Amino acid sequence: MTLVLWSVDLYIVLNKQTDFAVADAIQTALDKSGEPMKKNTLHMIGNAHIDPVWLWSWQEGYGEVKASFASALDRLDEYDDFYFTASSSQFFEWIEECDKEMFNRIKHYVSRGRIELTGGFFVEPDMNLPCGESFARQALLGQRYFKEKLGTTARVGYNIDSFGHNAAMPQILKKCGLDYYACMRPAPEEMLIEDRLFWWQSPDGSRVLSYRIPYEYRTFENNLKENSHRLLEEDSQRREDLMLFFGVGNHGGGPTIKNIEEVKSMDIKDVHVKMSRVQDYFDKANRENIPTVKKDLQYHGRGCYSVHSPIKRLNRQSENRLIRAEKFCTAASQLGLMPYPAEDLTRAWKGVLFNQFHDILAGTSTESACNEAEHLYGEVLSLADRAANRAVQSISWKIDIEQDTTMKPLVVFNPHGFNQTMIIEREISDLNNEDFNPGTQRICLKDSFGHEIPVQKIQSEATLSWQSRIVFTAPFNSFGYELFKLYSCPEPHVMEAPENPLTTRTLCSDRFSITLGESGYISSIIDKRTNREFLNGQGALLSIYKDGSDTWGHDKDSYTEHLGDMQVTQIKLLEEGPVRSTIKADFVFGETKASQEYRVYQNLDYVEVKTKINFQEKGRVMKIRYQCAGENHKALMEIPYGFIERERTGNEEPGQAWIDMFSTRDNSGLALANDSKYAYSFIDNEMAITAVRNAVFAHHKPTVLDGKTDYAYTDTGIQEISHIILPHEGDFRESSIMQVAQVINQSPICVIETYHKGTYPQKMSFLQSVEKGIMVRAVKNSEDGLGIILRFMETDGREREREIDFSLMEREFPLVFSPYEIKTIYIPFDRKEEIREVTLTEY
Ligand SMILES: [Zn+2]
Repeated sequence: MTLVLWSVDLYIVLNKQTDFAVADAIQTALDKSGEPMKKNTLHMIGNAHIDPVWLWSWQEGYGEVKASFASALDRLDEYDDFYFTASSSQFFEWIEECDKEMFNRIKHYVSRGRIELTGGFFVEPDMNLPCGESFARQALLGQRYFKEKLGTTARVGYNIDSFGHNAAMPQILKKCGLDYYACMRPAPEEMLIEDRLFWWQSPDGSRVLSYRIPYEYRTFENNLKENSHRLLEEDSQRREDLMLFFGVGNHGGGPTIKNIEEVKSMDIKDVHVKMSRVQDYFDKANRENIPTVKKDLQYHGRGCYSVHSPIKRLNRQSENRLIRAEKFCTAASQLGLMPYPAEDLTRAWKGVLFNQFHDILAGTSTESACNEAEHLYGEVLSLADRAANRAVQSISWKIDIEQDTTMKPLVVFNPHGFNQTMIIEREISDLNNEDFNPGTQRICLKDSFGHEIPVQKIQSEATLSWQSRIVFTAPFNSFGYELFKLYSCPEPHVMEAPENPLTTRTLCSDRFSITLGESGYISSIIDKRTNREFLNGQGALLSIYKDGSDTWGHDKDSYTEHLGDMQVTQIKLLEEGPVRSTIKADFVFGETKASQEYRVYQNLDYVEVKTKINFQEKGRVMKIRYQCAGENHKALMEIPYGFIERERTGNEEPGQAWIDMFSTRDNSGLALANDSKYAYSFIDNEMAITAVRNAVFAHHKPTVLDGKTDYAYTDTGIQEISHIILPHEGDFRESSIMQVAQVINQSPICVIETYHKGTYPQKMSFLQSVEKGIMVRAVKNSEDGLGIILRFMETDGREREREIDFSLMEREFPLVFSPYEIKTIYIPFDRKEEIREVTLTEY
C-alpha cells in the first residue's frame, strides 16, 4: 500500500515534467521497491495519415498519396528495421493505376511484411453515418483488393482520425476479418476509458481488442521524443507494451529520416523502443484480463452529424438506390434477362465509399471539395438507376399483359424482403384531367386479382391538361412485383372520399385523428382504435437555435439557445380524397421561409410530413421537435445494423433513419423515420431531428470569425426533408418502424408497361417474406460471380430459427440466428454445391 501511494505521488510530480531522465528514475525506484521488473516494448508505428479530401480536392489528395508512398518506399530501402503502416485500398488502387513500378515496389514490401496493411476498408470512413451495409462494402472492396492484388488481408481495423465509432462495429469488424481496432478519437477528455487497451464489445457479444492511440496519429517537427517520454511517464505504473504513432500526416508525408533516426537513437532503461507494426503490438497484448467497453466510442464533434445537409442526403439516397439496384439486377440476371452489371455496381459503390471518408461525409471539407463530392454522387445515382431500370424493365417486359385499350398497365416492384403496404406516386401521360373530377371520376385502379384499389389524382409536376399524377397505397408481397391496371371507364366511377370530418386544422383516417394548433404545428395525434393521445405539447415544431461553433461543432454538446419557432403565415387544406388528405402550412422566421405538408393516408399506420425550407440563418440550427405523451421515457435510435438507447440530456446524438420515444408507464411510443438526417436529440419528453445546421465551411477552432469576411455557409438555401410519424402500442419492436424506415428510404419502382404476351405471371415474389425479427438487408451476386449473397440481421435480440424460401433460385433452407446477428449466406449457382455461411467479405 505504501509503495502504491509513494508511486502515485511521484507519478503526479512526473506528469508536470517531460524530462526523460526522470522517467528513468521512476523505473529505478520501482526496481528498488522490489516490484518485479519486466522489459516492455514501445512499438513505434510509422505511418502517414492521408486525408484524400479535406482542405484540398481529391486530385490534390491523389498527389499526396503518390508522394507519401514514394517517401515511405525510400525509407524502407534505407532502413531495414523500418515498417510502414498504411490503410485504405483506394490509395493502393490510385498508385496501381498511375505508377506500375511503384506499385510493384509496394507489393515487394507488403510480401515481406515491411508495409503493414491495416484497416481493410476502402477509405477511413466516418464511423457513425454510413449504414450497416456500407461498412460491409468498405471491407468487401478493401479486403478483397488487398487479398487479390497484395496477397494478404488486414487483421487490424484502423480508423485513427474518425470522430466517433458506433456501437455495432465490433460484430461488423469481426465479420470482416478484423480482430483488432486502432482509433484515436474520442480523446481521453471526451470519453473516459479505463485503459488505452480494451476489449470493445457489441450487443451481440462480438468483441475486438482495441487501442486508443495517444496524443496524435502524427508527429510534428520536434515532438517525437517529447511524446515518447510523456507516454512512458503517464503509463509508468502499467509497465506494459505501448504503441506510439509517428510520421508527418493529414496532408500525407509519413516518417522522415529525422523521425527514424530519433527513434533509433532512443535509449530508454528497461524499455525496448522499436519500429513496429500495429498487429505485432496487438498479437503480443492479446489476453483476457483487459477492461471491456460495451458502448459506442463518442464524442468528438457532435456537429458533424448535422452539418452540410446535401452530402448527408446524397449518402442516404446513394446507399439505398444502389442496394435496391443490386436486388433487382440479381433477380433479372438469375432469370436470364441480363448479365449482372458487377462492374458498374462496383464503380458506383466505390463512389459512395469514397465519399464516406471522414472529412467528406462529416461535411467538414471546403466548399469546392464538397461540391465535387456531390458530382461523384451524381455518377453513383446514374449508375444505380440505369442498372435498376434495365433490370425492372426487362422483367416487366416478360409479364403476360392482356390487350385492353381502356387500361394502362403499371408494374410495381417491391425491393424489400417483407410484405408491406406502400405508397405509389406516378406521373401518367395521356389521361384527361377531366376524368378525375371528384364524384364523376372516370378512372379506376385494380390489382392483379381484379380487386379495386382507391386511387387519387394529385398535383402533377407538369401543368398540362393531358398530364396527371396519381397516388395509391397497396399491400405488396415481399421482394417481387405486381401488375396494377389503371382503367378509364366510359361511365362516371364513384370513388368518394371517406366520411371523415376534414377542416383546415383536422385530418382523419380510419386510424388517426390529427389536429393542428393555431401555430400550424401538430397539437394532437389520436389513435382512434385506443383513443390514446401521443403528444403532450406540439409535434413537427420548427425551432431555430443559436449555434456559432465551428464546422465540427467542437466544444458544443447541445443547442440550448432557443431563438424562436417559425411563425405560421397560412394554413390550407391541400388534398382531400380516398387515398390521402393533406394540410399545408407556411412559416416564416426572419429571412427564412418554410412549408410543411401533413399527410394522412387511409390505409397506413403512419403520418407523413414533408418539410421544404429556404434556410437563411447563418450560424444557426433548425430542429423538428416532438413533445411526446406519457412518462418514464426511453429514447432509442437506429445505428448501423442495430439500435441504441440514448440518454435524454438534450445532447446531439448520431443515428441512422429512425428514432423512438417509448413511455414505459404507458407501454406505448412515438417513432419518427426520415429520408436524409443523422442527428437527433432527446430531452425530458421531447425528441428532435436536427434538420439544418448552417456553419461556415471548414472552420476550425480556435480561429474566430471576424465579422467582416463574407464567409460561405454549408446549409444556406432550399432543403427538403421527408419524415413520418408512427405511433405505436408496445415498444418499437412491436411496431413496424424498422420496416417503414426501410420503405421510405428504398422506395418501390413503378414501371408503365404496355400490352404483350409473356411467360411471367402478373404477380411474383422472388423471396417469401421473412417473419418479423429478421430483416433481409442485401441481395447481390457474389463477388466471385458464382452465386448469390443474401444478408440478414436479427433485429430484436432473440434467438430465432427461420425457414428461408428463396423462390428466385428455388431454394429453401433453415437458418438459426443468435441475438442481433448479421448473417451472410452464399447460395451457389451450382445446385450440387452446398449453401454456406460466409463473412461480410464473402470469404
Ligand atoms: Zn483525417
